[in-house]
This record gives sequence, C-alpha cells and structure tokens, in this order.
Amino acid sequence: MPFNVIIVGGGLAGLTSALHLSKKGLKVLLIEKHKYPRHKVCGEYISNEVLPYLNALGFNPFDFGAKNITDLVLSTPGSRSIKIKLPLGGFSISRYCIDAELAKKAELNGTQIVYATVKDIQFKNDQFEVSTNRGEQFEAKLVIGSFGKRSNIDVKMNRDFMKKASPFLGVKAHYKGDFPENLVGLHNFEGGYCGISKVENDHINVCYIADFKSFKKFKNIEDFQVHVLRKNKFLKEAFQNYELAFEKPLSISQVSFAAKNPVEHHIIMCGDSAGMIHPLAGNGMSMAIRAAQMASQQILRFTSGELESRSALEASYSKLWNKEFGTRLKSGHIISRLFRLGILSELMILCLKIFPFVLPYIIKKTHGRPMKPEL
Ligand SMILES: Cc1cc2nc3c(=O)[nH]c(=O)nc-3n(C[C@H](O)[C@H](O)[C@H](O)COP(=O)(O)OP(=O)(O)OC[C@H]3O[C@@H](n4cnc5c(N)ncnc54)[C@H](O)[C@@H]3O)c2cc1C
Repeated sequence: MPFNVIIVGGGLAGLTSALHLSKKGLKVLLIEKHKYPRHKVCGEYISNEVLPYLNALGFNPFDFGAKNITDLVLSTPGSRSIKIKLPLGGFSISRYCIDAELAKKAELNGTQIVYATVKDIQFKNDQFEVSTNRGEQFEAKLVIGSFGKRSNIDVKMNRDFMKKASPFLGVKAHYKGDFPENLVGLHNFEGGYCGISKVENDHINVCYIADFKSFKKFKNIEDFQVHVLRKNKFLKEAFQNYELAFEKPLSISQVSFAAKNPVEHHIIMCGDSAGMIHPLAGNGMSMAIRAAQMASQQILRFTSGELESRSALEASYSKLWNKEFGTRLKSGHIISRLFRLGILSELMILCLKIFPFVLPYIIKKTHGRPMKPEL
C-alpha cells in the first residue's frame, strides 16, 4: 500500500516531521542514508524556542542529559569579549544522541525507516515515486524533502542554488576537559567563528565554520587551527587544554547560504533543504524543527480535505515559510557578514560593551518566539 508521506532525509527536520505525522496517524516512510547514531558537523546548541513543541510531541531532550544553556560569551579575533545572559536560552545535546532518540520515538509512533540513499524523486499522475540506490521504489501522495544543505537530490533536480558558490567549510570534534555547563562560547577568528559548549555526555563540542578562502592558504585542519584559530586566546586555551575525544575532527565542505525555495517540483522542502541560516545565529536546528511543524500541520490540513488541492497546500506552506523565516535568514546573513569583517567586529564588541542591551536584541532578530505546543 502506498504511503501518505515519504520523508527524504532523517536529520532534525525529517525526524520531527515523521514524529508529528505518524503521531497523527498518517502512514509515513522516512528514508535516511546513514544509520543512527552518527556524529554530524554541528554546533549542537538548540534554542529553547522549540521546547513547547518537542514536549507536545512527547520528546524532552533533558531526559537524555541535554545541558541547559543560559549564558553566552562572544569574542573577537583580537580576543575582546563580552558575556551576557541569553534572552531565551537553549540546550546543548549531540546530534549523535538527539537524532537517534528522535528516530526511536518516530518508529514507536509507527514511522517506517529505510536506510538507503534516495537517488531519484519523480512526480507523475499526481503521485510521487521515490527510488533508492538499493533498487527499491516507494510511492506516496506527498514527499517532504529534508535532505539537508546539499544533497545528490539537489544535483538531480538541478536546483538553482547549486550553481552558486559554496565557499564555507565546517569542522567539528568532541573533546574532554573543563567547560561550564551553562555556557555557549562563540569565538571569532579571521574568516570564521567557532562555537563551544558541553553536551550530554560531558564532552565539549568544538565546531567551527570558516571561509574556504582563508582555509586554503593552509595545509590541513591542524595547520589552520594552529595559525588562525589560536590567535584568539579563548580558542588557544581550548585547543591547548582539551583532549580530543574523536579519532580525528569531522569536516564538511561546500556549505552555502544561497536562497532556495520552500516548494520545488511539488516537494515540500523542510529544514536546510528549504534555506539555511548562517550557523553564527545558532538557529538552524530550531528552524528545521519549526519548519517540520509548519509542514506537518499543512499536510494534515490537506489530508483532512481542509486544503482542497495540492496547489493550495503548496501555496499555504510557502506563505507561512517565507513569513516565518524570510527576515530571520536576512538578519543572519547580515550579522555574520559584519562579524567576519575583522576590524568592524572589534569595534562592534567595544560598542556592545558600552550598550550591552543591544546584543540580546541582535540575537532576537535571528531567533523566533517560543513555538506553540500544537500538533
Ligand atoms: C558548522 C555548522 C555548525 C552549526 N551549528 C549549529 C548550532 O549550533 N545550532 C543550530 O541550531 N544549528 C547549527 N547548524 C545548522 C544545523 O546543523 C542545520 O540547520 C540542521 O542540521 C538542519 O537540519 P536538517 O534536518 O534540515 O538537515 P540535516 O540535519 O543535515 O539532515 C539531512 C539528512 O538528510 C540525509 N540525506 C541527504 N541526502 C539524502 C539522500 N539522497 N537519501 C537519504 N538521506 C539523505 C542526510 O544523511 C541527513 O541525515 C550548524 C551548521 C553547520 C554547518
């Protein structure tokens, strides 16, 4: 029997949609290329705005040891710093843990999970056919595209953003050492910034995003860290005092923040596959979870007949998506660009020290209000 919904990609957007839709009784198939648990390049700080919704889905990250983050320390390449209380706060939990726990919960709700790489999504006769690298073919009335920032599907669909430059790379590793549980550090260096926070198993997540132009002058990650990141005294202390808990850091390249569309080829795009905010904003995961709520609610309106046609579903989702995320994405890009301009970021910190209330205001510009606990 065909599925009501096939979800392609089981990161936070796909898993949350699977949890929501299967909890509401839809027949859901989630196809993910990597088995859980697995580490991912990510800062692993999630804004508290998602908690009311996650709780409504029966998921509480603190049951799995998430750390409650209340404070932020922000520093410049020249090591000027400012520390503030975060307006809403957040929690820190590894992707290794949260993705696997969400997948278990979605399966308990009835989601079927297939581990394979989707190689094609065809839309014919008002129905989708999704095929995998293992030769399977699945059918559904609806497809959610939650395949992240850059996927083989984007190439196959010839999406516009793939033609634009993708000039960033991300590096992440867990370390053992001392770091306050309630703090997230955001430390700038020439060409990028690095986030530091403790996760559920007391490891310290150190994750940075860097401009490829700055990185390519160096031989490798170690060389880059020694010559660029360590110029910031906070990062120097971190790399000197922490012991690597991974065999080696994970890295990803070709990260792009180019604009995308929330619906393409009738696929409801969710999370990074609809648009990615700069990680400096620390809001990509909450945006993925919020988009999952929006997509799920609109799909439920469609399957119940309240939205009468596919085009009404697509228009309704696109409108909500643009209203919710349009300004947030623009603010994230502007702020990250300002912080990458060395001298300007030093001046900005000096101003923020004089007017500290401005920083919570800037953070609010890239974050949302607490989500409604509605399914
Ligand atoms: C360096 C860096 C640091 C970041 N730090 C933070 C942070 O601290 N806080 C924050 O909120 N956000 C952060 N983000 C952003 C955050 O990681 C993303 O916004 C979030 O993961 C988006 O979730 P998603 O579900 O859309 O995509 P993903 O979590 O990337 O999931 C996509 C999934 O799709 C799967 N997939 C892809 N193609 C296929 C296919 N063809 N078939 C089957 N499966 C497929 C992948 O395996 C993956 O599991 C950071 C991003 C980067 C790059």
